[in-house]
Amino acid sequence: MTKPAHNLPASEFATRVKGLVAFQAGHALDAVFVSTDINRYYFTGLEASNGVLLLASAPTFYTDFRYLLVARKCVSFMAVKRVWRQVDEQETLAAMGKKWRRVGYEGTISAARFEALRKALPQVEWMDVATAISEMRSVKSLAEQSVLRHAVRANGNVFASVREQLCAGMREWDVRNMLRREMDAVGQGEAFDTIVCAGKNSAECHHHPDETVIRKGQPVLIDMGVKLDYYCSDMTRSFCMGPPPPFYREIYRIVSEAQRKAIRGIRPGRRCADIDALARRHIEKAGYGDYFGHSLGHSLGLEVHETPNFAPTCKTVLKPGMTLTVEPGIYLPGRFGIRIEDVILVTSNGCEVL
Ligand code: ZN
Ligand code: ZN
Repeated sequence: MTKPAHNLPASEFATRVKGLVAFQAGHALDAVFVSTDINRYYFTGLEASNGVLLLASAPTFYTDFRYLLVARKCVSFMAVKRVWRQVDEQETLAAMGKKWRRVGYEGTISAARFEALRKALPQVEWMDVATAISEMRSVKSLAEQSVLRHAVRANGNVFASVREQLCAGMREWDVRNMLRREMDAVGQGEAFDTIVCAGKNSAECHHHPDETVIRKGQPVLIDMGVKLDYYCSDMTRSFCMGPPPPFYREIYRIVSEAQRKAIRGIRPGRRCADIDALARRHIEKAGYGDYFGHSLGHSLGLEVHETPNFAPTCKTVLKPGMTLTVEPGIYLPGRFGIRIEDVILVTSNGCEVL
């Protein structure tokens, strides 16, 4: 049984809506249409499978019969007006938006839904605001930072507890189930499918736990994240079931140094790609560049993978309040893989490892 999730105070959501209204004004948009589950939640704090936040003359939240009462209670900082059903969406918008010329929408909605919007409002010039919303979401408020801190701490505690119970003879699957049970007990379960790899399976970055038995002396890799009060944590630990052999120690040292170099380089004003390069160059110099084939890290918050990323192509400049993972790895096919992953918060002059 998972624990009930708690929302941030309503003022948090009201502030976010204000930010979107400012964006609307800045881009001369007659309306902004927010309809994806995740962004709907981000702006309203309401968990619902249907509903639209519409910024026209004033922000209004529309939903259907099922969520109307709870929406009026939860989304107290804006009008919750009337029933919105997806089957009538085209008609509803056509009636509302006769005078609209420029409308913001999320480019992440389905092509079919966007087609319906275009048919409803053929005169409208559409602006994709998904990236702008992602940018808003990438800088976490103090309240969000506090929830993330708790999620990361809970994740560490679950790992420590299961690590103590872990012994040779267990299957990857058993360990995954133990982790899941404990993650359910501390929060709302896992933020993503937990990865447990034994032996050479650890050389597969995203191995699905199976019936492989963990043997004495073998390397193990666990990548896990507790979800707590809607926010995701993410952490990877690599270790051996017994004293690690010298070669494992050597690779571990290189990965750990790469992570430390990257973390030391993080501060506001630096580009994400430059941080990726700090770790990547270290691993390349050690001769393992071909065995680190993924990005150094990703943002996280309501979703486990958000933007920006510590990736070679990401030009985003770091700002205080951003939360990202730093997760270098070296994967040696047929032998083992090592990844070390922690979450950092960009502060005013560097970063804090959560
Ligand atoms: Zn991870
Ligand atoms: Zn990750």
